[in-house]
Order: sequence, then C-alpha cells, then structure tokens
Amino acid sequence: MTLLDVQPLRATFHGDLLTPADGGYDEACRIWNASVQKRPALIARCSGLADIIAAVDFARENGLLTAVRGGGHNVGGRALCDDGIVIDLSRLRAVHVDPARRTVRVQGGATLGDLDRETHAFGLAVPCGIVPKTGIGGLTLGGGVGWLVRKYGLTIDNLLSCQVVTADGTVRTASASQNDDLFWALRGGGGNFGVVASFEFQAHPVTTVLGGLVLYSRNAAADVIRHFRDYMTSAPDELTAYAALLHGPDGAPLVAVVPCYCGVIAEGQRILEPLRTFGTPVVDTIQELPFPAMQALFAPSFPDGHHNYWKSTLQRDLSDEAIDVIVEHGNRMRSPLSAVVLEYYGGAAGRVSSDATAFPHRGLPWDILFIAQWTEPAETATHREWARSGEEGLHRFAANAHLMSALDVEPDDVIDTAVGANLPRLRAIKAKYDPANFFRVNYNIKPALTQAAGA
Ligand SMILES: Cc1cc2nc3c(=O)[nH]c(=O)nc-3n(C[C@H](O)[C@H](O)[C@H](O)COP(=O)(O)OP(=O)(O)OC[C@H]3O[C@@H](n4cnc5c(N)ncnc54)[C@H](O)[C@@H]3O)c2cc1C
Repeated sequence: MTLLDVQPLRATFHGDLLTPADGGYDEACRIWNASVQKRPALIARCSGLADIIAAVDFARENGLLTAVRGGGHNVGGRALCDDGIVIDLSRLRAVHVDPARRTVRVQGGATLGDLDRETHAFGLAVPCGIVPKTGIGGLTLGGGVGWLVRKYGLTIDNLLSCQVVTADGTVRTASASQNDDLFWALRGGGGNFGVVASFEFQAHPVTTVLGGLVLYSRNAAADVIRHFRDYMTSAPDELTAYAALLHGPDGAPLVAVVPCYCGVIAEGQRILEPLRTFGTPVVDTIQELPFPAMQALFAPSFPDGHHNYWKSTLQRDLSDEAIDVIVEHGNRMRSPLSAVVLEYYGGAAGRVSSDATAFPHRGLPWDILFIAQWTEPAETATHREWARSGEEGLHRFAANAHLMSALDVEPDDVIDTAVGANLPRLRAIKAKYDPANFFRVNYNIKPALTQAAGA
C-alpha cells in the first residue's frame, strides 16, 4: 500500500477523503460485483466540480494510479483500483430537467434511476440502460443500450454536451461546437478522456409504455427464439425487445421474451399480438407501465453483492444453428441466478454511421450475453467457465466485436474490439487530451505515440 500524505488535499477538499484508517472506508470499497475486491490508498468522494479538479491535480502530482467511480456497476470492477486513488462521484447525482427545451443536465455519479425519476415528472425520458442502479457515467461513455434504443438510438446519440475535467485539471466543455474531437471520443470511447462532471441529454416524450414478460417453458426455447428473431427483424422502431434463458423464482428453467413498446398504446397492443399469441406461454405480464416501472423490471435480478462474470458477443445475424448452440449452452447453466440474454438493437441506433461517434458497431444488432451470477465464492471457477465457454461456442457466428460496457476483465486485443476501426482516431485524441495515459483504469485506449490529434 502506498504511503500517502493526504494533508495537502484535505486542506482544499470539501467532500470525504477516506483512507484505510478511516471509518466508512470498507463500505466505500464495495461495488455491485462482489467478485471485485480492491483496496485503494485513498477514496476522494467529491462534493462538486472543484473537488474533482483537486482530486485530479493531487493524483497527477503524486503519480497515483487513478480510478473513477460513477455508479460502481462495471462488471470488471473498473470503478476501483488497488493502491492509488478513486475519484468517487457517488454523491454527485443531481438531475435538472429543462422541460421547455426537453434537455436534462445530469451529474456524473447519477444512476439511471435518478435520471428516470426526474424526467418522468415531466413526461420525458432519456434512452439509457435497463437496470436503475447502473451509473449513467460508465453507461453513457460505453454507448448505452436500453428499451428506447430502436426508437431514439443509443444514449450517446442523445448526448448534447459534457463538462469534463481532463488529465491536466482543466474544465472543458465537449459538444458539437466546442472541443468536437473530445465530444466524438466521449461518445463510445469509455472513461479515457477525463472525469465527466455532468452530461447534457436530449429527452423525449415517453411516459407510459407497453411492456413486461412473456414466459415459456424452457423446452420451447429454440422455437420461441426463432420466432422472436423473425418477428424483430421487421418490427417498428417503437418496439425494442430482448429474449432470455433464465429461471423462475421456483427454479423452473424458462425462456422469456421481454418487449417494450414506446409508441401509441393501442397500436402497441396490435403490434405485440403475434409475440403474445405464439406457442403456449406459461405467464404473460404485458401491460401498460409507467416508463420507470419498465426500467425497474429487472432490478431484483441484479442485486448488489452477488458474484458476477460476463461474456458477450455481437453478431450481425442470428442463425438457426447459432440459436441451437445458445439454447444447448443455456441448458447447461449451473446457477439459477445466471442467464443468457439475446438483445436486439438496430432501428435508430443502427442508422447512425459507424464513424459518426466513437461507438462503431452500428451494423451488429445482436448482442448475446452470458451472464454468470452466483453467491458462493467456492463456485467461482464453475460459473466463469460456463460463461466463457458459452461465448467461445459462438465464435464461428460472431463478428469479433464487443459492446464495451459488457466487457469483463479482458486482454487489450479484446478491449480494442469494442472500438474497432475507430481505434486509431481515439488513440490520437487520447494523445491530445491525456498523453501520459493518466486515465487508464478503464477500457484503456493507449495514446498514439505522436501528439497529432487527427480528429
Ligand atoms: C446490472 C447491470 C445492468 C446493466 N445494463 C446495461 C444496459 O441495459 N445497457 C448498457 O448499455 N449497459 C448496461 N450495463 C453495463 C454498464 O453500462 C457498465 O457496466 C458501466 O460501466 C456502468 O457504469 P457505472 O458508472 O455504474 O460504472 P463504474 O463501475 O462506476 O465505472 C466504470 C467506468 O466508467 C467510467 N466512468 C464512470 N463514470 C464516469 C464519469 N462520470 N466520468 C468519467 N468516467 C466515468 C470509468 O472509466 C470507470 O472505470 C449494465 C451493468 C450492470 C451491472
């Protein structure tokens, strides 16, 4: 553990500074994934922008390894580091909605639940992810997929500007008209370019959606997923839907189809009819839901403190053969808490060009996620192996591309597939804003060797 003189920072910092000797330190080291246990030398829990600047300056001047914590939901534990400093944004959760402009300013440590709650008060929503405790920070910087992805695009497609503290401690605005290279990089390039103190989003009129689960016995999985695939490839943008292999509360193996229709409800009833009448569902919970209730549907499935390991792969198509492989592997799931999730994007997200933002995978609408979740540490190897071999079994169908936000701890060449052909431009922008790779506890993009921005 680094011996660190924290006094110079204490003199100016208004938030909490926690070292291993301080009460509350152990709690502050806890994140969503219990498999991640790291012990930073210092946790700087910021109270505002000035604290972020002070923490960045202190870390740089002391040569500290630096992690940035938003919602603490990164499966690979990138919110924390051993030794070093964590710039903890978990108190910076304010959300301010401008209903006239339909814009929202969100602090960098806010969760999706914080955002949905405030926007819903004005009948608005910002496209983001599907579990409320996830941080808007890490989710946005990785692209951001969720129930509105086909109608309104990725979270980054709705990002208007960011207020960023870069590695030199400077506060910059990144938008289409200011530091546009930085703005491009922040939209899919991860936490490489600075601490985002706040995000400004475009919101959309979404209040009530038609959503829920249609559940079938697992025996029907291959047929249900084939039907789901065929149905979704011609579905309207108002409909986003995922399928999943999971277990019911009684441990019964099931297959689920989970739609969210965000258009006119009566029209949605008609559109969803073929999904609901297919085969013999054991349960159909589809109903009109306030959008935040749809967002909370899976909250109980991802509690804090379980062990988690994820593997995933993006695909252009989902062939019958790939479905058979997925179902067969899903049936070998050893934990009833685990799941295989088949997410289908496309729509508005798919119509943006691959180099318009740092997020490149616009033409790969299928993401297949093997989500291993368990409670007993002794079972770790078994469940990790299940997820790992599931993804490996899909290599022959896959595009060697990954959604950044779904990547667990992986080697550099796998991380690079999250940005694909946009890597050289990202490396040039990294060299401009963070030439020493100060921000590297993330999906790291190494600075290009020259100083040319090239963006
Ligand atoms: C249960 C669960 C459900 C999920 N569902 C979705 C989903 O529906 N859609 C989706 O797209 N993703 C989803 N994800 C993935 C999620 O987007 C990523 O795990 C993301 O990293 C979480 O963000 P966070 O702020 O909570 O992460 P943290 O663990 O706090 O941070 C992760 C990394 O993000 C960066 N970071 C976070 N905040 C900031 C900031 N303000 N400024 C600079 N860098 C920052 C840092 O580099 C940090 O290392 C889900 C994850 C979980 C665990």
